Amino acid sequence: MQQKILDLTQKLMKIESISHTQDECHFEEELLGIIQQWDYFKEHPQYCGMQEIEEDTLHRKNVYALVKGKEDQTLIMINHHDVVSLHAYGSLQEVAYDSDALKKALLEEDVEEEVKRDILSNEWLFGRGSCDMKGGMAAEMVLLEEYAKHPGNVNLLFVSVCDEETYSKGMRHAQTLLAQLKEAYGLNYVFAINPEPSAHVGRGHVGSFGSIGKCLAMLHVAGIPSHISAIENSINPISLLSEITRLIECSEDFVDTYIKEKTTPPVFNYFRDSKDVYDYSVAHYASACCSVMMFDSSLEDVIRKLKEKCQKGIDYYHERQQLKMKECKRHYHQRDIAIYTFDELKKICAEKGVLPEMKLDEKFLFEGSRYIEKCLENVPEIQPCVVITFIPPYYPSILSSRINHERVDQIAMQVDQVLRQENLHLQKEFYFQGVSDGSYLRKFDHRDLKYLMFDEKEYYLDHQLKEDIPVLLCGPWGKDLHLRSERVNIHSLCTTTYSILETILNAFQ
Ligand SMILES: [Zn+2]
Repeated sequence: MQQKILDLTQKLMKIESISHTQDECHFEEELLGIIQQWDYFKEHPQYCGMQEIEEDTLHRKNVYALVKGKEDQTLIMINHHDVVSLHAYGSLQEVAYDSDALKKALLEEDVEEEVKRDILSNEWLFGRGSCDMKGGMAAEMVLLEEYAKHPGNVNLLFVSVCDEETYSKGMRHAQTLLAQLKEAYGLNYVFAINPEPSAHVGRGHVGSFGSIGKCLAMLHVAGIPSHISAIENSINPISLLSEITRLIECSEDFVDTYIKEKTTPPVFNYFRDSKDVYDYSVAHYASACCSVMMFDSSLEDVIRKLKEKCQKGIDYYHERQQLKMKECKRHYHQRDIAIYTFDELKKICAEKGVLPEMKLDEKFLFEGSRYIEKCLENVPEIQPCVVITFIPPYYPSILSSRINHERVDQIAMQVDQVLRQENLHLQKEFYFQGVSDGSYLRKFDHRDLKYLMFDEKEYYLDHQLKEDIPVLLCGPWGKDLHLRSERVNIHSLCTTTYSILETILNAFQ
């Protein structure tokens, strides 16, 4: 079994599947091809297949395979088949999927001591996708193939999604797939496991019974443009937005705490004005985006906090301008600056019959700020102002113990027992902090809708999932994912991860 998992991992790694490229489609065909070769699926071809991702320019698909048990309870094994780009490998891109050649090449370079030690130990498989996450996928496939030989009571559903590393389009659409399969075969989803790579903390092997929420907040400022020489008559959106971003960036007010875990504070990753070319005037618009991480906070909570910060930023801006203009012997022309949510802006436009049509592609940042500008152009009377909205992607938080406390405790105990045989223990986490597809095992919360820009489908789906499904993110011991020294521990993958998957499956028999 161990050798089989190792061989399959290497085979899957060599079928390229860089995220957001045509390669993903090729991989999907190959993956389904492998599964269709198994006797079980030759006999029951209707139990495996592909789900086309709607309106995807690359025409990517999710791949699924179901081994039908005697009862309705169903364990889902999730994975993603895309991998991040090879940029990190630089001149070693040629050998990025070939562990032996890569190890040799890395040894010739100046690599960290720990990387060198792991290369020489022969205990690690190197290469893109090794730990994130063709390894976990291979372990799932081997278990699925084994289970298909003698199915028991429980249904085992394998779902391999695309686009995890980019917009999570695959997992968002997998909600529809799950709903369809449930309907077609009377499935009752009891648990989901996602063997993304796990870190080790001492002898603790990290497993997360939940996944952090993340939203991307966009703040758009409409200032008052002026000739540079008449600065006192303007509201400079760049300066005002700077005041606001300064107050929000890394602010503890946005940090959620759950028992001993805390979310990362907000960080801005986009800031610009709307000018295409230089001219001698103050810009009209500026926008900025920041990631806000959430455990319990709702989008409504985040909006409320953002509003407070915006108001403070506006007050500081006025104060500072008053003072500075006075020093420059000029008179600052202070004006009220209102704050609107996107929903409110839309309403104002709609009431006047000037709501522009929204066109969509995947450049949400540019599209988002352009669309707000179009709205604002139609209602100059509400400017200067700040508009707050959220743009995709949006990952709701999920906490498995809140869905089924007993089941989580039981599985945690069993996983811990498996790990103890290896002289390890389960380092239980409530939330996976790295943002994951696990978020989309939660049903749609309609209250979120009004704060979101764009069609809700772009965020998290068409309301198909009617229940929340508890999830565990726990896979092989991996290191340096997304880097050129990405690697997976062979024993942890081929023995431990397989045992964990098998134990969870047996728990439902
Ligand atoms: Zn991953």
